[in-house]
Amino acid sequence: MKKIVIVGGGIAGLAAAHRIQEELSNQALECTVLEAGPAFGGKIGTERIDGFVVEKGPDSFISQKPQAIELCKKLGIGDRLVGTHPTNTNTYVYTGGRLVTMPEGLSLMIPTQFMPFVLTPLFSWPGKVRMGLDLVLPGKADDSDESLASFVRRRMGREALRKMAEPMLAGIYASDPETMSIKSTFPMFFETEQKYRSLILGMLDRKRKMAGGRRSSPYTLFMTLKNGLSEMVDAVLEKSPGVTFRSGVKVAQVSRAENGWRLDLENGENLTADAVIFATPAGISASLLEKVAPRVAEGLGKIPYVSTATVTLGFRREGFEHPLNGFGFVIPRAEKRRILACTWTSSKFPHRAPEGHVMLRCFVGGAKKEALAEQDADAMLQMVKEEIRDTMGIRQEPVMSRVFHYRKSNVQYHVGHAGLIAGIEDELKAVPGVFLAGSAYTGIGIPDCIQNGGRAAEKVLEYLAGADPNQSGKLAS
Ligand SMILES: Cc1cc2nc3c(=O)[nH]c(=O)nc-3n(C[C@H](O)[C@H](O)[C@H](O)COP(=O)(O)OP(=O)(O)OC[C@H]3O[C@@H](n4cnc5c(N)ncnc54)[C@H](O)[C@@H]3O)c2cc1C
Repeated sequence: MKKIVIVGGGIAGLAAAHRIQEELSNQALECTVLEAGPAFGGKIGTERIDGFVVEKGPDSFISQKPQAIELCKKLGIGDRLVGTHPTNTNTYVYTGGRLVTMPEGLSLMIPTQFMPFVLTPLFSWPGKVRMGLDLVLPGKADDSDESLASFVRRRMGREALRKMAEPMLAGIYASDPETMSIKSTFPMFFETEQKYRSLILGMLDRKRKMAGGRRSSPYTLFMTLKNGLSEMVDAVLEKSPGVTFRSGVKVAQVSRAENGWRLDLENGENLTADAVIFATPAGISASLLEKVAPRVAEGLGKIPYVSTATVTLGFRREGFEHPLNGFGFVIPRAEKRRILACTWTSSKFPHRAPEGHVMLRCFVGGAKKEALAEQDADAMLQMVKEEIRDTMGIRQEPVMSRVFHYRKSNVQYHVGHAGLIAGIEDELKAVPGVFLAGSAYTGIGIPDCIQNGGRAAEKVLEYLAGADPNQSGKLAS
């Protein structure tokens, strides 16, 4: 009987566990997931309060990457998937003291329709002309990594960076666009420039091919589950009966054992394993591996994290001062506000607020405003109320509020991230039976973490079967 231990019960660890569950009928394996927190799911967590469905962290996943939808189907909860509301899909940018609609036809930040782009008041005329220069500017001479800011400034100009790329794209990563890697965060833009030179021409060509090539997708761009994303977490636990899931169990130390690894738990227990998947944030994996794999730990320790927080507010619809006619808004840093963005949750997703109520959620913190996310809950709540009063005109008191802190929890992919990960992968070859999974490596989104956790499980199975003596590619990519 070979023993596998997965440290960390976030979505990456759970996806790995479920992949191993699929093999249990074919192989003599024992698999245990150790989770330090009181519940599984890691950053994913749903609280249901008086009919409000409140997501602590992620609220949806992108459908263009199929892994989350596929996992839901495998788990038998495909019929629980719900998309975003089909009407009022506008997203706004808070600029010059008001909310301005993003022009139609923007593909992330690339204009693919002429008229809405020409008519939008979001950009100045010089800004629009500068963005249009993308059509004629030469491509980058080499294929080295660069920052998102440098990439966007070079191709589309400063205004596109300030009003779109920085609040929307860097916002997804809670990052500073001046330091984040274009290759590791938006490889599609990097590849488009390499292939087509112009981002606009590249996006138009891709759109044409997609329109001609396949039937329209049954999914909206962002998907979630009827009763919140923790439905997926619960389903993994329920549909993996051969795996032992233990929560409230923190791994404190790792050492070598005869034929494998020994894990000392904070509660004084210890476990041995033939293979271990560390599905913990990089800094935690680094401290656990420091003594047994110092070079791997050194690489992991270089992956930075920043603090964020989410603040969800529920209101009575009656007398509510804003129509919430869209999915929400983002705020460029130049506006000097204290929130990064606000999702109009009850307009974006169905089943989120009880009858007669609305709900919205604000994001705080990130690379340039970490201190704001580290305030205590009361101060943060007060600050967010002031911010939605100033940006949306809302003076009503919420009937429900929730603050969730993510201290030093949002991984940052800085310029050169791919090289750093390749180096860690190289060092890992000298550490048999140790594998890494999670958002620190090849993608932060839920579908990326599911893919990466599943791949880590496959690498473990190959390793235990002796099929991969060199253990190449142990980091699931
Ligand atoms: C506010 C916020 C909003 C987000 N929004 C979205 C979104 O809408 N869509 C999307 O796709 N992605 C979103 N993300 C990103 C996504 O949620 C994460 O990248 C993903 O959930 C990370 O999963 P993971 O398994 O790698 O790590 P985690 O979820 O961090 O799991 C790691 C687990 O390891 C456990 N652990 C730590 N130390 C130990 C130890 N010593 N022993 C045992 N266990 C330990 C932790 O308790 C934790 O449960 C968001 C993230 C945040 C913070």
